[in-house]
Amino acid sequence: MPLYIGKSVNLRSRVLAHLRAADEARMMGQTRRISHVRTAGDIGAQLLEAQLIKQQQPLFNQRLRRNRQLCAWQLADGVPRLAYANTVDFAVTPQLYGLYASRHAALEGLMALADQHGLCHGVLGLEKMPAGKPCFRHMVKLCAGACCGREPLDAHADRLGLALESLQVACWPYPGAVALRETCPLDAAFHQFHVVRNWCYLGSAPTLAQARRLDQVVAAFDADGYKILCKPLLQGSVRVMPLG
Ligand SMILES: [Zn+2]
Repeated sequence: MPLYIGKSVNLRSRVLAHLRAADEARMMGQTRRISHVRTAGDIGAQLLEAQLIKQQQPLFNQRLRRNRQLCAWQLADGVPRLAYANTVDFAVTPQLYGLYASRHAALEGLMALADQHGLCHGVLGLEKMPAGKPCFRHMVKLCAGACCGREPLDAHADRLGLALESLQVACWPYPGAVALRETCPLDAAFHQFHVVRNWCYLGSAPTLAQARRLDQVVAAFDADGYKILCKPLLQGSVRVMPLG
């Protein structure tokens, strides 16, 4: 069983750092063998690391373990509702906002957003509104007053929409799977094609023909893949070849 899975551009210094860390002595004491997989670049390393941690759940990677409560905010009649990744396909559903590991994290995220923008916790459904009275946060000037008529409800809804925009989850922008070509910065002859569909990493191959064969399994939205690939894909900083 693997104890720990990690990535580095310099294995020697990374392994030495693990050896020297006092709080990792228990892990190192149980270590019998260290193996490595070479990847063409950092994107491939991040994708493989996340995939292996999910598949093998090493004892000392607890922080990165798969979370089954992944959720995002969705607007229903102007009121944010939680949508869970196990019931809603995040890769194709528009207007999802934020990406949270738990309901608790989502509530904290929305409260922080409300505080930043003077939105009303009562109107957002985050707390019970006292009948006919402004909410407590309005009295301490954190809510602009949508609860007590100081701010029209449609203005509040517009501001909520604007505030959420910065958190919008991007739908998968391709009709099917794509291959991302990554070339090793230290060895131009070494490149890999990383196959991804619905933000889910399916594997890497040395040729495009072999990459096509990876495009066969069902792939649901994957939060790790989303976090790793969202920027490079939407900014166009990687070479992308549609496989479908
Ligand atoms: Zn209020």
